[in-house]
Amino acid sequence: PPLYKQRYQFVKSLVEKYKPKKVADLGCGECSLLWKLKFCSSIEVLAGVDISEDVMKEKMHTLSPLPCEYLQPSWRPLVVTLYQGSVAQKDPNLLGFDMITCIELIEHLETEELAAFPDVIFGFWAPVMAVISTPNSEFNSLLPGVKLFRHLDHKFEWSKEEFESWALKAAGCYGYTVEFTGVGKPPPGAESVGFCTQIGIFVRNYMETAETVKYKMTISHVYKTIFKAVY
Ligand code: SAM
Repeated sequence: PPLYKQRYQFVKSLVEKYKPKKVADLGCGECSLLWKLKFCSSIEVLAGVDISEDVMKEKMHTLSPLPCEYLQPSWRPLVVTLYQGSVAQKDPNLLGFDMITCIELIEHLETEELAAFPDVIFGFWAPVMAVISTPNSEFNSLLPGVKLFRHLDHKFEWSKEEFESWALKAAGCYGYTVEFTGVGKPPPGAESVGFCTQIGIFVRNYMETAETVKYKMTISHVYKTIFKAVY
């Protein structure tokens, strides 16, 4: 299967393994991953965030309940919400999540946004688990036609060492442990370049107190809700 499908399948498998109830996808784009996750039975709250309202709006109707789902009494509660906003900004709507995913997002962030991001996701939202994927630049030599970056919109592409040192630093700062994996295996003989897409799985190693969450909930909202479906 194409690489993007392997990334979505990777997240879906993690959801099936850990059964999170509240899942948010950052930089959700056209909501393709959210659409796939809507069929995971553990999920009761699903949220998407993207800076671009237009991109999200293209296919967000696919997140609405189907006519048959309105007719049949729902077998579980599910609320799907889409927010327009930047992942460099703290918003209380994403507090208390079990899993936050960022698939091919960080390489699109400007320097200042990337610098602010760890404090937002790990310091403020502090999900139980976070999944961050980004291209592995070492794989580029195996991709025909790739000169500097895989996409013109990428602000950077990191080697394994660069991604791992960024991730370990963020994890260490905010009380997380991180493990590295990926999707897109290199061909035989080129194993040392690693996966085409590198993935960090971050797990929080402390319990958040109710007081902390309550306090964080009081900061003002900056995201704009652009879609909400209640099943
Ligand atoms: N995650 C999706 C996927 O894997 O198919 C889409 C990835 S797309 C390559 C990157 C997305 O990040 C775009 O939809 C873009 O609008 C969004 N984005 C870029 N900067 C952002 C920011 N500061 N805050 C939130 N989203 C951002």
